[in-house]
This record gives sequence, structure tokens and C-alpha cells, in this order.
Amino acid sequence: MKHLTEEQRLTLEMVRDVAIREIAPRAQELDEKSLFPEHARDLFAQLGLLNPLLPAAYGGTEMGIATVVLILEEISRVCASTALLLIGQFDGMLPIIHGGSPALKEKYLPRFSGESKLLTALGATEPNAGSDLLNMKTRAERKGDKYVINGQKCFITNGSVADITVVYAYTDHPRGRRGSAPSSWSGAHRASSMAAMRSRWGCAAPSTPSFSSKTWKCLPRT
Ligand SMILES: Cc1cc2nc3c(=O)[nH]c(=O)nc-3n(C[C@H](O)[C@H](O)[C@H](O)COP(=O)(O)OP(=O)(O)OC[C@H]3O[C@@H](n4cnc5c(N)ncnc54)[C@H](O)[C@@H]3O)c2cc1C
Repeated sequence: MKHLTEEQRLTLEMVRDVAIREIAPRAQELDEKSLFPEHARDLFAQLGLLNPLLPAAYGGTEMGIATVVLILEEISRVCASTALLLIGQFDGMLPIIHGGSPALKEKYLPRFSGESKLLTALGATEPNAGSDLLNMKTRAERKGDKYVINGQKCFITNGSVADITVVYAYTDHPRGRRGSAPSSWSGAHRASSMAAMRSRWGCAAPSTPSFSSKTWKCLPRT
């Protein structure tokens, strides 16, 4: 660990300490009972670990991906489920950070600054579209100032607890990947059905449901 900056070294020391004291003692129970690690969400929010990738322009600490990977390593060491909560959070935020329009970024990203406890999720995978994501069937149809999304998603980490979920859907299927657009919806627009997935020993705690809907109403990307 000689190559770490002083800031990274101090951050990792803090994370390791918190992981051992606060996360490890609950890991077994969370996994056995498939409980969502709510205490870790609160703790991460207080420590600025829930949104370390948030750009400084939106009030974030912008720690950088290398630091974040090292943080995940420290947490995974004691509880893979709790690390998955953070991975779901990063997966949900990154499409907005990297692919969102200026208006979308302005709308969502400032909400994650400070000690925000908001959670995100990324809805990409479908029953027949995992590695082969371009095979996804979910469609987003523009209706006035909203999209209406039809489709089914599965294995969505943080899916049933997220405040904001980014969903991949085709807006113009014949155009393939050029016709796809991530859309975001807020917690007010829940999917119409959800089913929890429970058989994941070692990382059973985070909510990772499947969901399907004909009624998701989302803000457009642009
Ligand atoms: C704990 C957990 C959390 C997850 N969280 C999320 C989430 O938050 N959001 C989300 O959208 N998804 C999530 N996923 C889903 C994950 O992204 C998919 O499982 C992944 O993309 C693989 O898709 P699949 O399971 O359909 O496997 P498949 O795509 O069916 O692949 C199965 C196996 O076949 C291999 N394979 C596939 N295609 C080929 C090929 N052409 N040639 C050779 N080998 C091939 C793969 O490498 C793999 O070993 C999660 C999954 C897990 C287990």
C-alpha cells in the first residue's frame, strides 16, 4: 500500500475501522435473515461514503474510482451484502453522472450531496438480457413530457428500496444501441410488481428484486 496518497490511506483506515466495529458484527444476521443493511446506509451517509463518486460541482467529494474500489474491498472483506448496497448505489448514479443531460444532472445530482441517504439502483438486466444486454425488450414510449416504460427487469440491487432508479430501455428499437436511453424515476413511481430474490448465500441481504410494469412514468433524458 506504499503507493496510496495520504488522503487515501486515512480514508481506508477509517473505513477498515468502521467495517470491523459496525459492519462485521451484523453480517451473519443480515445474510441469514435477508435483511437490508439499513444501519450501514445511515452510517455511510454520515461518513460521506454513500456518494463518494459525486462530482464536486454537485457538492460531492469526488473521491475517484480507485479509492472507491479500495473502500469496497474493505467492506466486502467483512460483509459482501453491505458492499453490494454501495455497488448498487454507484451503478445507479454513474449513468446520470456520465450520460445525463445537464438538466437531468441538475435535477438529481445535488440531492446526493452532504449526508443524503437517497439510494439509487440500476435496472439493466432482464430475464433474457444479461451479458447480452442489447437483447433487452424493455421499451420507453414518449407520452407528452414523460416516458411510459413497458418491460421486466431482474436482479436489481437496491431495487425495492431505491429512491431513484435508472432504467435502460429502447426508445427506438430498430436502431439498436443508438435507440436506447437510460431514464430515471423517483420513488414516487414504483414498479407495479416486485419479487424478492433470496437464494444468494454470502450476499443475501440487499434487496435485489425483479420487477415488471406497464405503468412506469419517467422523466425523459433530455
Ligand atoms: C448479486 C447480483 C446483483 C446484481 N445487481 C444488478 C443490478 O443492480 N442491476 C442490473 O441491471 N443487473 C444486476 N445483476 C445482474 C447481472 O448484471 C447479470 O447477472 C449479468 O449481466 C450476467 O447476466 P446473466 O445472469 O443473464 O448471465 P448470462 O448473460 O446468461 O451469462 C451466463 C454465463 O454465460 C457466459 N456467457 C454469456 N454470453 C456468452 C458468450 N457469448 N460467449 C461465452 N460465454 C458467454 C457468461 O460469462 C456467464 O458465465 C446482478 C446480479 C447479481 C448476481
